[in-house]
Amino acid sequence: MRMKRVAAVAMAAALSFGMAACGGDSDGEAGGSGAKGIIGKAQNQKKLVIGVKADQPGLGLQTGSTYEGFDVEIAKIIAKGLGVEAGSIEWKTTVSNNREPFIQQGTVDLVVATYTINDERKQKISFAGPYFIAGQDLLVKADSTIAGPEGLDGKTVCSVTGSTPAKRIQTEHPKAKLQQFDSYSKCLPLLQNGQVDAVTTDDIILAGYAAQEQYAGKFKVVGKPFSSEPYGIGLKKDDKDGCEKVNEILKAAASDGSYKAAWDSTLGKSGKAAPELDTTKLTNCGSV
Ligand code: GLU
Repeated sequence: MRMKRVAAVAMAAALSFGMAACGGDSDGEAGGSGAKGIIGKAQNQKKLVIGVKADQPGLGLQTGSTYEGFDVEIAKIIAKGLGVEAGSIEWKTTVSNNREPFIQQGTVDLVVATYTINDERKQKISFAGPYFIAGQDLLVKADSTIAGPEGLDGKTVCSVTGSTPAKRIQTEHPKAKLQQFDSYSKCLPLLQNGQVDAVTTDDIILAGYAAQEQYAGKFKVVGKPFSSEPYGIGLKKDDKDGCEKVNEILKAAASDGSYKAAWDSTLGKSGKAAPELDTTKLTNCGSV
């Protein structure tokens, strides 16, 4: 009787091991190499699902089924470094508020979406990078007298749920009336028709909107950033090897010219020179 039970347990274990070993599951476990996380997924399945923004010109902008922008180019560099060609990336639109859950639930393998590295988010996910440093700023009408966040008291400001700029308004400028949507592009018509007095998020995002043809001459970015927003690449919290690999890929991109090329073909088109990717500041991927 006892023997039978032991045998049954052993058989069940063997079966479930067998299933895992056949692998190719979304966590990238098992399969040929035995590597886990994004490295395993890239090696075994030769594809990756990457979350990007869809309505941020110059950074992540979707037209039909095509995504373009600096974040999209950075994502392609990372995928290539992991052995996945651009054509094998499945792009997934993310908004600010679903980035951590998308990573935690495995809806995406990586997020490259104007994603500020901070301690609160690091409780849930891991960050490689930063690959760019933005700063929170304000977009206002061209004739507005608002000159900084102090000028927001009693004014209506539009931002996005789950973003660091919205949170900073709530905690540091509580006299501003905050309206939140799921994406920044929804704020623009409201700024245009005067329903909100300002839009707040990272300067680089706001500059992209201000430069859009339909808003030419109508808006201005105040130009006095009041935070530091280091952009990271989000991945599963326990995927330390994957995180370190992404940082290695960024290091290579800084020295082989591909980082600069990613900038020049997207945000750099405005004439702004490529920033330095400071590889001494890359995250430690959760090491203590
Ligand atoms: N970088 C900020 C953040 O991650 C604002 C931009 C965004 O919402 O994507 O919250």
